[in-house]
Amino acid sequence: MSQELRELYQEIIIDHNRNPRNHHAMEDASSQANGFNPLCGDKLTVYLKTEGDRVTDISFVGCGCAISQASASLMTDTLKGKTIQEVRETFERFHTMLTADTNEPLPTLDKLTVLAGVRAYPARVKCATLAWHTLDAALKKEPVVVSTE
Ligand code: ZN
Repeated sequence: MSQELRELYQEIIIDHNRNPRNHHAMEDASSQANGFNPLCGDKLTVYLKTEGDRVTDISFVGCGCAISQASASLMTDTLKGKTIQEVRETFERFHTMLTADTNEPLPTLDKLTVLAGVRAYPARVKCATLAWHTLDAALKKEPVVVSTE
């Protein structure tokens, strides 16, 4: 990745951290789940509204490091309107992007690609995936608090 691209990606992460998208509680959510990353102290609640097999609305509240908040913001921005099948496929590709060998070419993930740099920092991968694991719990309607540990 070129230096220029890296800086651009950082700008986007900083922007999503400062002005998170879909950052609010949802009173009429179909389901919700709480996530906690004890390594960093990141906390998230993800709210989900589904109709049939489609995610019609998604939002989150939480606090934590810039990576965890930007990742949650980008996730909600990306997944709104997608089918649950598409959500699962995106999660799989996102997870591969963050855990694959750094020499491997990146999967195409549109704006989520801005978080690819995280894979060079294994401790931060949990920050970036917290929102997704929490979303997964909300989809399964698991009444537990997700912990990355
Ligand atoms: Zn974090």
